[in-house]
Order: sequence, then structure tokens, then C-alpha cells
Amino acid sequence: MQDLKAFQQLLDTPKKVVITAHSNPDADALGAALGLASYLKKKQHQVQVITPTDYPQFLHWMYGQKEVMVYSNGQEKKATLLMEEADMIFCLDFSSLNRIEDMGEIVRNSKALKVVIDHHMGKEMFADFEFWDVQAAATCELLYQLIIDLGERRLIDKDMAECLYAGIMTDTGSFRHPNTTKHVHEVVADLIELGANVSKVSKLVYDNNSMDRLRFIGYALSEKLVVLPEYNTAYFAITAKDLEKFNSRTGDTEGLVNYALSIEGITMAAIIIDRSEAVKLSFRSIGDFPVNELAAKHFEGGGHKNAAGGISHQSLEETVKKFLQLLPLYKSQLHKSLKEQELHLT
Ligand code: 5GP
Ligand code: MN
Repeated sequence: MQDLKAFQQLLDTPKKVVITAHSNPDADALGAALGLASYLKKKQHQVQVITPTDYPQFLHWMYGQKEVMVYSNGQEKKATLLMEEADMIFCLDFSSLNRIEDMGEIVRNSKALKVVIDHHMGKEMFADFEFWDVQAAATCELLYQLIIDLGERRLIDKDMAECLYAGIMTDTGSFRHPNTTKHVHEVVADLIELGANVSKVSKLVYDNNSMDRLRFIGYALSEKLVVLPEYNTAYFAITAKDLEKFNSRTGDTEGLVNYALSIEGITMAAIIIDRSEAVKLSFRSIGDFPVNELAAKHFEGGGHKNAAGGISHQSLEETVKKFLQLLPLYKSQLHKSLKEQELHLT
């Protein structure tokens, strides 16, 4: 962070703090929010975590989770007041205000000092302090680094270490994605030193399925997966009925897109889901194919080069059609990405 000294001074006196994370928070967003909340509480600040929407059951073990305020769960008035009256608002795991939906303009208009801690591209200029690095694997990695830079490693306890570990573990695909650097391993080694129980965290995050979710994955793989070898692409289109049939809950579709990406010869995978508000798209790629650019250009979205998302206000059918019509435009790039990937692996 550029103005670390000024930031440090600000944190020296108790403040009213709101911490937000992007909508549909994942382990990195929620882990960072709760890790930061614990840290700031130890420094005598008055802290409230507010998320725009709820988050998966498999994150409910995180320390402090019960105190999170979910804006869209009828908490709009209370949350708005807190954001308006805050001295500081932290924005975690996003840096463009449309990622927190209706809360975006409330944050923008609040007189609070705004702090962004994030690793996504497409940063908007609204913050007073930024700790932003697109090379970082996770926001939790950045938050750890910030606390170290502030000289306060001693304040990271076991519960915080496990929140941060969860965010880094999931955003690196369990230390398998290209963002898994030496620094990432050094950070998690220290989090283990600080008490994080890695097998406990991975069990809670990954091996915590409901029967419905597992059967849904089986159904999607056998009935819904479409593979287009000529475009090195595979995708799922999931209807509202499919979700209903398997009593789908928040987070149940998470990770499904990775199965499509695991198919030999596939460089781009997508999952297109008919959610009640809109059609939501998630993209993954391997190699140099930038799904964030595709998401930004065609689906009002963004993210990282190899993991991005967007939305569509057309029907599921129309959205799938649009997606399929785009593929010929990217055909050679998708193929090239495979060839480059093969070179990297030799
Ligand atoms: P996921 O597919 O897991 O929802 O998201 C993958 C990545 O893309 C995440 O880093 C997430 O923040 C980003 N992302 C997902 N949906 C959107 C979206 O609608 N807009 C933008 N700008 N980024 C998104
Ligand atoms: Mn993240």
C-alpha cells in the first residue's frame, strides 16, 4: 500500500468500520472480510461485515460468520445506515462498485474513507487507499501481506489464519492454478505456523456436500454437459427447473465448470445458469485465452484471465445462442491456447 503510514495512523484510533465483499461471496471474499473483521476488532474498532447476497453453507464454519449482515435478506435499511455513518468502508475481493449491486452507490456516496484490497482487473477509481495487485493469487494473500506490512503478525490467530487459508486454497484451485507462486506457499506456510488446520479447512470447504448437490453434479455431467471439440470448448446450460429439481442452494453449482475444463483438449469452459434475477455466466480457461475479456465484451462482466463471469438479461436459450455464435470468432485463439499449453507442459 502506497500510503501505509497514513493508513496505519488511521487505524490507531477506534473507528466505525464497514467491511464489504462482492456479491455471491466465495471463500476468498468472505475469508478476507472475516479475517479483517477479527483483526480490526482486536484493534478496538467497531466492525460490521455486510455482504450484498448470501453465501454457501460450506463457508458457515468461518469465525465471525454469524454476525455477517446480508443486505438482500431484508437488511437494506440497517445496512444503508451503517454504510452512511461509517468512518471507513473496506471493499474486499472487488474493485468495481457494480460488483456489490445496489450497495455500490451507497458506498460511493458515503462520506467514509474507502479502502480497496483486491486482485481483480478493471479497478474503478473510488478508493482513498488501495492495496491492489492483479498478480496476487487471492485477496486473502494480500490481506495477510498488509497485516505483515503493518507489523502486526502477532494479531493473526488460528481462526483468522483458517479464514485466510481457505481463501488462498480455493482461489488457487487447491494450489494448482498458475497463480500458485512461491510467495503463496510462503504465506500458507506461515498461516499453518499461526495455527491453521489445513485438513480441517479443506474438509469443511470441499467435503461438505449435500446428497442433492452430489446428485445434481452427476445429473449435470451426464445430461447437461456439451462438448464442442472444434472450438476446444465445453459448457453446461442449467435451467431454473434443473435447480429446483435438486433443491439447489447457494454454492451448489460452484466448481461444476471445472469438470468441463478438465476434459482433454478443452481450453474454455462455461456454465450458464438461469437464475431468477438474470442469466449468470461463469467462464474458465487454460493458457492464454482471456475469458475476462470475453466476459467484459459480451456479458457485462469481468474477472481474471482464466476465471471470469458475467450476466445476461436475455433468456437462457438466447444467451446460449449468443455464446455459441461467439465461438467462431475465437476459434483460432482457443486452439492456439491449447498448443501453447502443450508447449508449456513439455
Ligand atoms: P465465478 O465464476 O467463480 O463466479 O467467478 C470467477 C471470477 O470472475 C471471480 O474472480 C469473480 O469475481 C469474477 N466474476 C464473476 N462474475 C462476475 C461479474 O458478473 N462481473 C465481473 N466483473 N466479474 C465477475
Ligand atoms: Mn479472490
